[in-house]
Parts: sequence; structure tokens; C-alpha cells
Amino acid sequence: MSERMSAHLPADALAIFDIYLQMLDAASLGNEVVGKIKDGWCAISALKIVIERYISEFEKMEDAYIRERAVDVKDLGRRLLEYLTTESSKSLPVPDSAILIAEEVTASMLAEVPREKIKGIVSIKGAENSHAAIMARALGIPAVMGLRDIPLLQLDGVDIIVDGYNGQIVISPNDAITAEYRDLESEDLEFTKLLKLEADEVARTADGHRVSLFINSGMGFDGEYAEQEHIEGIGLYRTEYPFMMRQRFPSEQEQQLLYQHVLGEFSGKPVVMRTLDVGGDKQLPYFPIVEDNPFLGWRGIRLTLDHPEIFLVQIRAMIKANVFTNNLHIMLPMISDIGEVEESNRLINQAYNEVSEELREADHAAQVPRPKVGVMIEVPSILYQLKQLKGLVDFCSIGTNDLTQYLLAVDRNNDKVAHLYDAYHPTVLNAIKTIADVTNEIGIPCSVCGELAGDPGGAMLLTGMGFTQLSMNTQNLLKVKWVLKKSNSEELKDLVEDALDCTRPDQVKFRVNRYILNIGAAGILRAGG
Ligand code: PEP
Ligand code: MG
Repeated sequence: MSERMSAHLPADALAIFDIYLQMLDAASLGNEVVGKIKDGWCAISALKIVIERYISEFEKMEDAYIRERAVDVKDLGRRLLEYLTTESSKSLPVPDSAILIAEEVTASMLAEVPREKIKGIVSIKGAENSHAAIMARALGIPAVMGLRDIPLLQLDGVDIIVDGYNGQIVISPNDAITAEYRDLESEDLEFTKLLKLEADEVARTADGHRVSLFINSGMGFDGEYAEQEHIEGIGLYRTEYPFMMRQRFPSEQEQQLLYQHVLGEFSGKPVVMRTLDVGGDKQLPYFPIVEDNPFLGWRGIRLTLDHPEIFLVQIRAMIKANVFTNNLHIMLPMISDIGEVEESNRLINQAYNEVSEELREADHAAQVPRPKVGVMIEVPSILYQLKQLKGLVDFCSIGTNDLTQYLLAVDRNNDKVAHLYDAYHPTVLNAIKTIADVTNEIGIPCSVCGELAGDPGGAMLLTGMGFTQLSMNTQNLLKVKWVLKKSNSEELKDLVEDALDCTRPDQVKFRVNRYILNIGAAGILRAGG
């Protein structure tokens, strides 16, 4: 690796490989592994014991820099392990119809296996709105999350049905069950065909009320949607996904090329790029964050404002990428107070001035468009400072996934409390309605980009609340359009009034489903999950 990287890295950065080599030396870690093998452990276990001890020693260190070296030890251990197990992993090619089962499914895992081969995903950790689930939904792959107590090691090579609608898997199904699921699968395909018949029309309710539909993107497969007229742009581009699929921070130039590609594909349509939103259940393999309460910790804007060099590089790359297309909107995640907006604006201004100067040095007439800047509304504290956003931001977008978790104090990634996590909770709906009313009053355009916007019933409620811009995964977009077309905007307002007076999420769901049945859209009730 040292040799391979020598052309790309400065000498001081290359020194890390010398340290790796020293650690592997017989006098250090290597010797300890040999010692454990002599004690009777197999090589893989011996390595694991020693590496884990080293990691915990490093993690206990007071000095933050030394503490972070735990990552190097982990990486070293992982690489050694790869060599020790290469034989067995080589003999396991990915079958054509594979089900990916992992303790925790990550973006890089999904990137490693060809998309067309993955037919289902099962994750031991996580819940319906974990990021792994959101990624699976974006890719249109059935997924079941939070499946504890399954015999993980005995599932290799076994036939499995993944029922993403009901959150179940069937291990070694008999012929009757398989046939039943095949029927359901073809019903699903028929329904999708029906939805595609009207794919080109823009979304409106039966009484002609227009709703603009945008897509959530970031996994890198969405170019094909740019041409479709009924898709009005990207309402949320999660920039962290490309960061998660790499082994190091992408450089400014790499980011610029990536963003330029996305902005170019959607040229003429707005693209909302969210600044790096890592932390919580989104980890960068090369910048691990270990915290007791990761969802209340160093997430999103908190991390990037603490590391302005990461923020500035990203904003500069975005602004440069936008020079030809001028369709960039920048969105800030996890904003919990006005100070964060002011500080971000200051840095965005700085990046804008730097880039303008740089480009004008090369070409005096260079025009650098200034992007619109907005915030995610997803932390409850900002609900009480909405009016103070006036003059500071150009737009906002509600992140219902986090807003739900923080309002209800339910970790979106914890399957033990998954039954308490519900965006249909009247508290959540009342909060969203308040945001709709206040942003309308102060004249800041507000959209919704959390998963609720892509849930057909959720989209109906949001339309009834007055939202006219919804952003969702590409898989659900046609379903949302289909139910909206059957709905009446005045009736949706009544439905919302009814829902806001409910005391429990199931009461809301009952009313929404009753309306769906009344308008003859029952087909969505199975296909909408
Ligand atoms: C949200 O929180 O609703 C959101 C859209 O962002 P993410 O799911 O990436 O946290
Ligand atoms: Mg969020």
C-alpha cells in the first residue's frame, strides 16, 4: 500500500504505513497474536482478541489524536483478517438472486454487490427509518430491519423470502408458501404497471390542486429520472452517501466533479444538496464517531461547524460545480438554533467569495451564481425559532424522520422501541402543521423530504396541510401521484382536521385508510408499505 500510495501522498502522510509495519512486527502485535495461537486459539480468534485489546487501549487515551488511532488498528486488523479468510470468501461468489444479511447493512456493502443481484436485505440492527432502510427503499429492494434472534450463520445458501411489507422473513419456505408469495409478487408487478400508465403527468388532485414532486437522491443511480417531466427536481441530495462509499474524504475536486454531474443531469431543475450529515447511524469508515447517544451527539451541522475545513471544501466544490447550471440549492441538516444558521451563512459567504475570486483570476468575466440556502426542520428546538429564520434562509424542508424521533424521544434506529416510532402520531402531525402555517405566514417556502412525504397516506395528509412540494424516493413517487389524483384537496383538509384531533397514531391511520378506501385506492394499502 505504501508503494502504491507513494505517488499520491506526501511523505509525512506515508509515515503512517511505517507505523503499521512496526505494529505488525514480531516485537509488537505480531508476537502477541503468535502467543495467543500458542495458547490454543485459531489464528482468526487470536487476531481478534489482540486487535480488540489494542483498540480499547487506544480508545481510552486522553489525547484525541491518539484516541483516533484506534481506527488505524481496526483497519490493520480488518486487512489481516481479509488475508486470513480470503480462501473462504473467494469460494463464495454472489449468487444471481442474493439476499444480503448483515449485522448492520451499510452504504459501502450495497455498493460492493451489484444492485441487480440483491433481491432482499435483512439487517439484524436498525428499524423502519434507519438509513439502511431508507437506502433499501430508494433502491427498491425489499428489506426487513431489526430481526433479532435469527441463526445468522446457518442461513448461508438457504432459500429465504423477504416480506418487506410485513417485516418478516420466511426461512426455507415450502411450495405452498412460495407459490403464495409468487402470486403476491405478480400482483405487485401488475400494480406497478398500472401506475406507470400515467407516469408522465404532473401530480394533481382530482379537483386540480397541483403538488410538485421531487426525488430524494444520493445513491448515484438517478440520472434516468432527470428527463421525466413529472419529476420536478431533487428535493434532497444526501451528500453523505458518496462520502460513505469511499475510504477517505473526497477531495474538493472529486466532490466538484460528482456534484457537477448531478447538477448537469438535472440541469434546468432545482437540486437541493444537503451538506454532509454524518453521525447517528451514518458513519464514515475513515472518521468513526463513538458516542453513548449518537443521535443526540455529534451529527450533521454540529460536526461540520466544528470542522470548518470539511464544510468549506464541500461548499466550495458545490459552488464551483454550479457555475454552468445555476440550479444548486444548499441545505443545512440538524439545525437546532439560529446561531448555527448564522455561522453556516458566514462560511458559505466566505466560500462564495473565495471561489469568485479564484474563478475571476482565470477569467475576468466569470459569473459565479450565488446558491439559495435553506435548512432542514428536524430538531424540535427550531420549531420555536421559525420566525427568526426570516431573512436568514431562502427555503426550508421538513425532515420528518428525525423530527419524529426527537419529538417522541424514540431512537429511529432501535428496534426495541420501533413500535413507538410513528410519524402519524398526532403530536408529530400537529408540529408539521404548525411549521406549514408559520413558514407560510413569514413567506419562506417549505417542503417535506422525510419518509412521510413518500408514504401515500402521509403525502395526502401533507397536501391537506397545505404543502405543495414533496420529496421522496423514486420507488414511491408514482404511488403518491396515483393516490393524490384520486383525492380531493378540500376533503384532504377535512381529513387533516380530523387527524389533528386524534389522540393516537392508529386512530389517524384508521381515518386515512378509510378515506383511501372511499376514493377507490385500496390497491395502495398493500403496495404502499
Ligand atoms: C429526515 O430526518 O427526515 C431526513 C430527511 O434526513 P435523514 O433521513 O437523512 O436524517
Ligand atoms: Mg435527518
